[in-house]
Amino acid sequence: MLHLLDQSADALRAWFTGHGEREYRAGQVLKWLFEKRASTFEEMTDLPKPLRDALAADFRIFASSIATHRHAADGTEKLLLELADGHRIECVLIREHARRTICISTQVGCAMGCVFCASGLDGVVRNLTTGEIVEQMLQLARLLDADDRLSNVVVMGMGEPLANLAALLPALEIAASPTGLGISPRRITISTVGLPPAIDRLTADKHQYHLAVSLHAPNDALRNQLVPVNKNIGIQEILAAADRYFEASGRRLTFEYVLLGGLNDQPSHARQLAALLKERAALLNVIPYNPVAGLPYQTPSEAARERFTEILTRAGVNVQVRLRKGDKIDAACGQLRRSLVQQAAGVSQPVTPHRA
Ligand code: SAH
Repeated sequence: MLHLLDQSADALRAWFTGHGEREYRAGQVLKWLFEKRASTFEEMTDLPKPLRDALAADFRIFASSIATHRHAADGTEKLLLELADGHRIECVLIREHARRTICISTQVGCAMGCVFCASGLDGVVRNLTTGEIVEQMLQLARLLDADDRLSNVVVMGMGEPLANLAALLPALEIAASPTGLGISPRRITISTVGLPPAIDRLTADKHQYHLAVSLHAPNDALRNQLVPVNKNIGIQEILAAADRYFEASGRRLTFEYVLLGGLNDQPSHARQLAALLKERAALLNVIPYNPVAGLPYQTPSEAARERFTEILTRAGVNVQVRLRKGDKIDAACGQLRRSLVQQAAGVSQPVTPHRA
């Protein structure tokens, strides 16, 4: 059985012509999948029954099953999907005013090793396929009312998106395509730890996606501690690659900064960060640390957070504090998967280790 969502439009058209059918049938299937959110071929009633049966014999639409589905009071919903090989990934639907944003994963686990992040604590298992990335979008779209549509995609779930560009880019093309989800590329954000060669590839390919770079520290000594892959890269290289992306795309950059109490939240850090960012047309997204069970980090006090952001704002940096959505359902990347693995292993911990 082939995973339907892993097939390119060309491959799908070729399947139909190989079965003595016209190519436009491929478009009908896509319409059923992305517009009408069908989950079976049986539902695709404008296809002849023998054709539906032939499709069902060769393809499965969803290769994953929903292992856990959580709802938060703020309208956020989180799915833990079990893939065909038993590995689990997370994806989230965030409802905010008219926006319907989904947060999707690109890898099982993560190799970057950011010390405060639940996703990478056990390293990376494998890259997701294009179909597995698209499937998260469809599973989340199916949670919406029929007349509601996804408006934004953030690639901020488990994994490092730029370490799996080969699968991610075709998936985002489907997200942006009028025959796919029809989401403007400008409403698609790729969040990266900062891998310059891969950022340069996005630049060269002239993508219009919004780029968010996870900085988390204003100097290499501290960033090497918090984001271990930085040892081989360095902040200046990352900023230079991000600048090239900005120049080529005209898209304002976002920098993310997880605020860890006592570690990277001091006034001296804010001043150094301001020096790095103030000349750039960039938005700084400050994210208070979302506690991960078993990790020793602290969410900074509100006073520390305000002191930090005020220094940056005064220096002319455009700062936004990202309020947590769905933290009662472990919505930060990698947390739900981890809390369920730990529960299964008998590690006692509250489901929401929330210290803020
Ligand atoms: N690998 C990509 C996408 C990861 S997740 C990246 O590094 O950007 C998206 C954001 O969530 C990143 O900025 C990541 O550092 C942040 N994050 C991870 N764990 C967190 C936690 N426990 N609390 C708050 N933010 C966290």
